[in-house]
Amino acid sequence: MRLEGKKAVITGAAQGIGKSIALGMAREGADICVADVNIENSEKTAQEICALGVKSIAVRLDVSKQDEVAKAFETSVKEFGRIDILVNNAGITRDTVLLRMKEEDWDAVININLKGSFLCSKEAVRIMAKQRYGKIISISSVVAFMGNPGQINYSSSKAGLIGLTKTIAKEYASRGIRANAVAPGFIQTAMTDVLTDAVKDEMRKAIPLGEFGTPEDVANAVIFLASAEADYITGQVIHINGGMYM
Ligand code: NAP
Repeated sequence: MRLEGKKAVITGAAQGIGKSIALGMAREGADICVADVNIENSEKTAQEICALGVKSIAVRLDVSKQDEVAKAFETSVKEFGRIDILVNNAGITRDTVLLRMKEEDWDAVININLKGSFLCSKEAVRIMAKQRYGKIISISSVVAFMGNPGQINYSSSKAGLIGLTKTIAKEYASRGIRANAVAPGFIQTAMTDVLTDAVKDEMRKAIPLGEFGTPEDVANAVIFLASAEADYITGQVIHINGGMYM
């Protein structure tokens, strides 16, 4: 049990990678706040987590709204007493090339993927600094490092998360807070299911290990960063991409 007694808030944890991280952390003994815009799925996920023998609550929040973020953290602290781990996982895509991209699609992706992580990190750091302990792990992407045609908003938001991570790591190391990121490549979830078979075949060719990753591949790295095994690691990025970017 690498996370025995730890309390974690995981955004976008109702499904996909966030859900896999939540279940994985619960199996390691952590209590989990499933914080997601989709309350129905969040409640189902929280029930699955409780069945593993730890505590879990579902909280509805849109990470891009300051008041909703503040309320979600307040609820978590009331329930759990402290917050040891924040995973900034909630994210969306609104893909098209630069000249076709509407300002509203730029804003939506930056507001949820980047500003949402800023708002959640701010609430978490406020709590963690008083505890003199905390772990913040943000889910970036391989496209932050490679760029990707059709994803100028998404790749910019994910690159922004690297700056956010390194800055938190430097600003709050003295308070016992570690901030790290993971950068997944192509992972099989609802977000990537919408891509055509032709696009998926092209992507597979670009992956030296020849296969897409699973949500569990990402969860394993996040759980390691959240655990005491990674206590001397801060301001770093773990790439999980089958060799697609190295
Ligand atoms: P997903 O299956 O779409 O799950 C994302 C979850 O976040 C959903 O439950 C979604 O709710 C929720 N969400 C969306 N907007 C939100 C908001 N404003 N506030 C709170 N929750 C919100 O996505 P995923 O593939 O698991 O991706 C999880 C993270 O990994 C994202 O940050 C993504 O960018 C990143 N990532 C994914 C891949 C990949 O290949 N899948 C690769 C690299 C990085 P709704 O479904 O109701 O919108």
